[in-house]
Amino acid sequence: MLDFEFSREQKMVQKTIREYSQAELAPFVKSFDKEGRIPMDVIQELADIGLLGVSISKEYGGIDADPVLVGIIAEELARGDISCAIPTFYLVEASWGHILDLYGTDAAKQAILPDVSKGTAFLGIAATEPDTGSDLGNMRTFAEKKGDKYVLRGEKMFISGIREVTQDMPKGGGYVTLVRTEPEKGTRGMSLFYVPLKDTPGITTNVLDDWGRKGISAGGFAMEDVELPEEYLIGEEGRGFYICMEGFDYARAIIGLVCCGAAMSVLEQAMDYIKMRSTFGNPIAKYQGVQFKLAEHWTKLESARLLAYKALWTYGKARESDKIGRFEVTKICAMSKLMAPILAFEAINDAVQWYGAFGYTSDSPLHLAMEGVRSYYWAEGAMEIMRIIVARELLGKEFVAYR
Ligand SMILES: Cc1cc2nc3c(=O)[nH]c(=O)nc-3n(C[C@H](O)[C@H](O)[C@H](O)COP(=O)(O)OP(=O)(O)OC[C@H]3O[C@@H](n4cnc5c(N)ncnc54)[C@H](O)[C@@H]3O)c2cc1C
Repeated sequence: MLDFEFSREQKMVQKTIREYSQAELAPFVKSFDKEGRIPMDVIQELADIGLLGVSISKEYGGIDADPVLVGIIAEELARGDISCAIPTFYLVEASWGHILDLYGTDAAKQAILPDVSKGTAFLGIAATEPDTGSDLGNMRTFAEKKGDKYVLRGEKMFISGIREVTQDMPKGGGYVTLVRTEPEKGTRGMSLFYVPLKDTPGITTNVLDDWGRKGISAGGFAMEDVELPEEYLIGEEGRGFYICMEGFDYARAIIGLVCCGAAMSVLEQAMDYIKMRSTFGNPIAKYQGVQFKLAEHWTKLESARLLAYKALWTYGKARESDKIGRFEVTKICAMSKLMAPILAFEAINDAVQWYGAFGYTSDSPLHLAMEGVRSYYWAEGAMEIMRIIVARELLGKEFVAYR
């Protein structure tokens, strides 16, 4: 049977996080962005409510929520923090905490997950390199086994949370990091490691000056002969690329809800404004040129929202049974990420237009949402790569252009 209603528990979580997000995040979004960081007391609050260990198992301090519940929380956080900084902090930890929880050794999990759950350390993903992002098959970072250690060399770039890990979080943190272990085997010769950043010999970092979602940083790190215990290998050697893609699936579906949450919240704010602001003797909301756009944006966003929830539901179901294949999951998660950022950006762009010149001032916060959702045209995979994935799953792998 098909049921479009959230359960009692889901509704309760939705209501609680909505109230929290409206009261504690929405009024301060401009100041988080101006300061260029999420205040530590906010991170602590998120941890205290259980949101930072949301997809981590209870053994490591988390609450082990199912993917749909993880999505509900993401949507509500984005309704409050339309700049998407806190939702990004949340969704990166939810996706990659989940991957480490699933595939990591006890030693790697103990090294980071309890601190992620407590809000004292940050865990992110490091796949992109200075010379390659979309084409991860061409990445260069390399790990070599030496005795009971791995030695890593290479550089990661455009990585979310670098300043948080190296400067802000009391216990630092690190990254689920994709590297080559057998270069001649292509994607079958890649492995994932947990790489702690702070105070690790051989690591140097830099922070970039992004123009959006400034509450969370992005930057890079170089590894020069960084020694890691063999227990920090995540999953089997040679399986890293595929495990990493599983994490991207999860993150992409959550991003769908972050984009819809931010854009629908902006449209709601804009509805209040266009009812109040008049031109030519009428509230702007009376003009059908405005109404029709509003109706279309709302309809499209609701479709994207449903697709994102279906993607998360599918992701969860595929973990429970092998009736849903991995590629089906990858396809629907890419579909969600392909659609939501564009629809959200277009909706917010029109809402900013309805605000007139006031929309172009920093006193109106809507531009923060535009900048925030725009980051997802690249983050966790460029939009064009989402199209390649969906087309590949529809047509068959033999139709991938570069094969
Ligand atoms: C704010 C932000 C945060 C990020 N955080 C992280 C992070 O935490 N961890 C991480 O690993 N990465 C992160 N990234 C990097 C992100 O994953 C990459 O930007 C993305 O994968 C694209 O890689 P690239 O930037 O190297 O672009 P490239 O791969 O160089 O591609 C450039 C552009 O070319 C086009 N393009 C590329 N290939 C094709 C094709 N086959 N067909 C058509 N067009 C194509 C696309 O328009 C693409 O945007 C982040 C990015 C941003 C913007």
